[in-house]
Amino acid sequence: MLDTQLLRTPVIMIVDDQVSNIRILREAVHDLGDIYFAVDGESALSLAQKCLPDVVLLDIEMPGMDGFAVCQALKADPRLADVAVIFVTAHTNSAEELRALEYGGVDFLSKPLNVPVARARIKTQLALRKETQQLALARRDLEDVIHHLPAFVAYWQTDLQCVFCNDLSGRWFGFPAQKMLGQSMRKVIGESNFLAINMYLQTVLDGKLTSFDITLQRADGDVLYGQATLVARVVDDVCLGFLMLLVDITDRKVAESALFEEKERIRVTLNSIGDAVIATNQQGEVTFVNPIAESLTGWLEHDALGKPIEVVMPLRDGSDEFDLQNPIRFALNENRSVGMALNCKLKRWDGVLLDVEDSAAPIRNQTGEVTGAIVVFHDISEARAMAVKMTHLAYHDALTDLPNRMLLQDRIVQAIQQAARSQERVAMLVLDLDNFKSINDTMGHATGDHLLQQVAQRLRGACRSVDTVSRQGGDEFIMLLPEVISFEMVGDIALKVLNLIAEPFWIDERRYDLSACIGVSLYPEDSNDAEALYRHSDSAMHQAKQLGRNRFQFFSSDIEHNMRSRHLLEQHMRQALEDEVFEVFYQAKVDARQQKIVGVEALTRWRKGDFLVSPADFIPLAEETGLIVPMGKYVLQQACLDAVAWHQQGYPITISVNISAVQFREPTFLGMVTDMLAMTKIRHDLLELEITESVLAQDIYTAQDTLQTLRQLGVRVAIDDFGTGYSSLSYLKRLPLDVLKIDQSFVNEMLTSKNDTAIVEAIVKLGSTLGLELVAEGVETQEQATALLSIGCHIIQGYLYCRPIPYSEMTTLIQQGISLPTLTEP
Ligand code: C2E
Ligand code: CA
Ligand code: CA
Repeated sequence: MLDTQLLRTPVIMIVDDQVSNIRILREAVHDLGDIYFAVDGESALSLAQKCLPDVVLLDIEMPGMDGFAVCQALKADPRLADVAVIFVTAHTNSAEELRALEYGGVDFLSKPLNVPVARARIKTQLALRKETQQLALARRDLEDVIHHLPAFVAYWQTDLQCVFCNDLSGRWFGFPAQKMLGQSMRKVIGESNFLAINMYLQTVLDGKLTSFDITLQRADGDVLYGQATLVARVVDDVCLGFLMLLVDITDRKVAESALFEEKERIRVTLNSIGDAVIATNQQGEVTFVNPIAESLTGWLEHDALGKPIEVVMPLRDGSDEFDLQNPIRFALNENRSVGMALNCKLKRWDGVLLDVEDSAAPIRNQTGEVTGAIVVFHDISEARAMAVKMTHLAYHDALTDLPNRMLLQDRIVQAIQQAARSQERVAMLVLDLDNFKSINDTMGHATGDHLLQQVAQRLRGACRSVDTVSRQGGDEFIMLLPEVISFEMVGDIALKVLNLIAEPFWIDERRYDLSACIGVSLYPEDSNDAEALYRHSDSAMHQAKQLGRNRFQFFSSDIEHNMRSRHLLEQHMRQALEDEVFEVFYQAKVDARQQKIVGVEALTRWRKGDFLVSPADFIPLAEETGLIVPMGKYVLQQACLDAVAWHQQGYPITISVNISAVQFREPTFLGMVTDMLAMTKIRHDLLELEITESVLAQDIYTAQDTLQTLRQLGVRVAIDDFGTGYSSLSYLKRLPLDVLKIDQSFVNEMLTSKNDTAIVEAIVKLGSTLGLELVAEGVETQEQATALLSIGCHIIQGYLYCRPIPYSEMTTLIQQGISLPTLTEP
């Protein structure tokens, strides 16, 4: 209402019972505003209700309601109470004037009217009124502002009585503003709050401004945080009172403390987690290093702060050849989380390289801008080592560090698969110590454990690198031997193991003698299933235990039998070699046309008491065991010496000595032959070495070299058992050979089988083409000899002329000559 009144044209109401007076007055003020008039009190009041005048020019003497009564009525109406009433009267005396002012009039005009004075006074009233209205408006605006401030504002006198307060609803202290007026501060804000403020009061009463944070107890019991400002009102150096301003900063305080707590929580977390954490700002300069990161990088946080991440955390590739970009840079540049490069190493402050792993992520502010980055990493060298250790523990026996049952299981399956592909065997040896329980019981478990560890060591020593030795628990061990070629080899290893166990053990200078039993099963002979192999080995082991201590036993009785007899044979053969009970027999080679002995073949015999063991029964084993080498050397020596003897007697007879493939391949072979030639002084061309085709087939180039050397030495070479092996014309042509010996199987059948006749004919033709001497073996009958002669083979070896006989008998035969009818070529 005030606003609209301020904007409108001023309204002047003239009240007078004399129309002429009204006219004069209107004439005087017509240009000062809108003019309304009334001629009596009643109509003036009702008009005033409508026109809401700013100024009323009111005649005092009127019939009915006089001017005073009208004035009274106007003032009684709240809407009109502040209207400026100027009384107009002819009877001016001071009593009258006084009365007029008492009724609320603001001025007094006398009739007859002095127009300029009247106008000036009316103008003054109008201006005053306008000002008042503006003031009121300003005050209301101010009050509005103050009442709506989100703060508590109160003005207190120096005696701490409240003069003004904006808290209309009493939200702050439970006192609505109205009720606070005239109350004491202590009562209004409460004892505890008053005490909190009290200490600042003196400062403000001294006329100074003061501002402080305060914790306030509110009327409803809530605690709120306020910022208080006290402003002294000082006039002429005298403090009249002060303004109190309280701003609720509870939200800010709560947010601040939440932020602090959050920061603290993060700090504690980052400092206590097991990972290393480094944070940087947007430039990649370090802003935080947690203790783990300190120890991994070797940089203390306060030294690292502000340094580029590359200085504090230099990363190198796995081989330490070049620098790697720090993931912090990726995170900053690409605004995304990134993992570290694989195989990444951290170069610690002291240069040590650590395997590290992990990732970096950007830190963004509320608007999503990158303000920094954080890298989290850990040392995986240890983890890697730990993983390796854990895996090792999972697959190994803790006491002996041998593979355990699980690992063995794995290896068995692999070995069987491999053996199936390569057509080899796998052997499983179950070993159990004899009477170990009694050692454990009497000497204590610590000694028992020591012994088991030493046994484990010896077992490992007995095995090849491809073998697996495993402890199954207690005193039972299992050896898994893949790539097994022969039973003999398994038997050898079992024996070796038993011998190793039988050697004394020493613990604290005390001697312990152990023995063991071993059960052996074989894939594929006994089973092709790992579980069954174990059962078979185990039962063989128990069988061995029943037979006594310190022995091994094959699960299969066939193999067992075979092994035993071969084993025995080998042992005897060894002994025979030492005892020199091998003898060399000779069989004559006869030129059938002249009935003349042209050469002899040396054939070994083993004398066993009254028996002579045939080479067919022991040569193969001698070859497998390598005994053939010393044996063959012995035969060669004997044969050479015998040939030299015959030569000295006037019989330069060629002597043929069988050379096994094993001998021929020995690196020492040629040296051995040369030595023998020198030692026995045999004429080189009297020595003939017989080798089989199989020798040539295996490594033709080495064989060729060896043969070439023999040719240079002047030693003759014969191909034995020709026709039974793989013969290639091309290599026959290339090799320096002297003799082809036609195998006795062809000679045997040549009279009954056309096929064999054809073969013999072909061999003879081939031999003559290549310029080789031909010898037929195993010739038993005259017919065979005749047939051979007829196709061009003249040299005959066989029972027909001569069985293998000892040296002395052969000497006689040579001296006396062959006594059979001379054969003639048809
Ligand atoms: P070989 O080299 O083919 O020797 C010929 C074999 O035939 C000899 O058997 C001989 O006694 C036999 N024999 C000779 N004439 C006849 C015949 O008319 N009828 C029959 N049925 N057999 C005849 P032996 O002495 O038992 O030797 C067997 C094999 O043992 C030899 O076959 C030879 O390969 C090997 N051997 C013998 N002595 C030695 C040796 O000192 N060193 C090497 N490495 N091997 C030898
Ligand atoms: Ca021979
Ligand atoms: Ca032969």
